[in-house]
Amino acid sequence: MPGCAVFSCKNYNRKTKGSDLIYHTFPKDDSVCKQWIHACRRKDKINIKNATVCSVHFLPEDYERDLKAELLNIKPKKMLNISAVPSLHLDIDSRPNKLNIEASSSHQPESPQITVSDRQTRQINRDSRKRGLERLKTLSPKKKKFDVGTITDSTSDSERHLKALLDKLEKDIKQMQTEMNKLKLKNKSLTLALSRRSKHIQQLENRINVKVKERVSIVLRKIFTENQIKNLLVTKKKPKWTREDISRALTLRSISRKCYIYLRQSVGIPLPSLSILRLWVSNSFKCRPGILSDVLFMMQTQCKNLTKNELLCILSFDEMNVDARVCYDQDEDKVYGPHSQAQVVMVRALCSNWKQPIFLILTLQ
Ligand SMILES: [Zn+2]
Repeated sequence: MPGCAVFSCKNYNRKTKGSDLIYHTFPKDDSVCKQWIHACRRKDKINIKNATVCSVHFLPEDYERDLKAELLNIKPKKMLNISAVPSLHLDIDSRPNKLNIEASSSHQPESPQITVSDRQTRQINRDSRKRGLERLKTLSPKKKKFDVGTITDSTSDSERHLKALLDKLEKDIKQMQTEMNKLKLKNKSLTLALSRRSKHIQQLENRINVKVKERVSIVLRKIFTENQIKNLLVTKKKPKWTREDISRALTLRSISRKCYIYLRQSVGIPLPSLSILRLWVSNSFKCRPGILSDVLFMMQTQCKNLTKNELLCILSFDEMNVDARVCYDQDEDKVYGPHSQAQVVMVRALCSNWKQPIFLILTLQ
């Protein structure tokens, strides 16, 4: 347990914990160390490597000024002068503890013994202070100069201290600036590396997307048209429909209206709306006398999904009665009729159940 080496002092670490009291190790300078040992007034040997002396035994002048702390307005470090020697409370009677005890009991003036002890204590205290100051004057040449009263010396001393402090601060600032510059460079290189990485990631993502789209379109090509696949992969608000899409959709619509709506709205298959089909049929689907090219185109797209047997077909000729009234074609600005019959060339399947008119001519008997 580290404690104070002064014979009369009973202070030790645990006892003075929480107070401002600190413990100083013995100085390295031999002559000053000897003075410390003498001041401790011990008969036994002191192990100067471990021994300490508490701050009770030092004068405020024994400590160096902490200019940095004063400048920064923080708690100063208690650093002893090189030549400082313990000078206070060294005798048994001048122990600070004893002093306190006697001072606290001094409220009993009736007791003559206590009054005497009080006086003695004061006298001893005065003596020890005087001795300490005298020793300080003789031992510390710097202090001696100071006490002699050369104010200019002390000013230049503090100026030197301040200059040294400023130099140190400037050095620190320069060091920090160089460090900051290094960090800036590092940051720049890291940002570059990051942008390169993110570009690479973006490229990889694009490649993956392209491959996925290719694979998906290969799988879906059997069911959907190219345009439908495009609409599936990139959902547009108003997709553009091709002639092939419309003709396929018309085939599906002709099978079942309910099924068409279900597939379009509930399953989410990209199909043109019913209104678009109606518009297309009324505007684009030509069914005028002659070869029915729109029908042939529809058959072309439809036949892609048929087997060889289903494709086997024959041409047949048919005659149908038609409305004999005269009609006006607004698009062509042409009057049709009067006709009584339509001569139709049909394509009929041999092994499956489908037929389609491909040629039409209107006659009048
Ligand atoms: Zn002590």
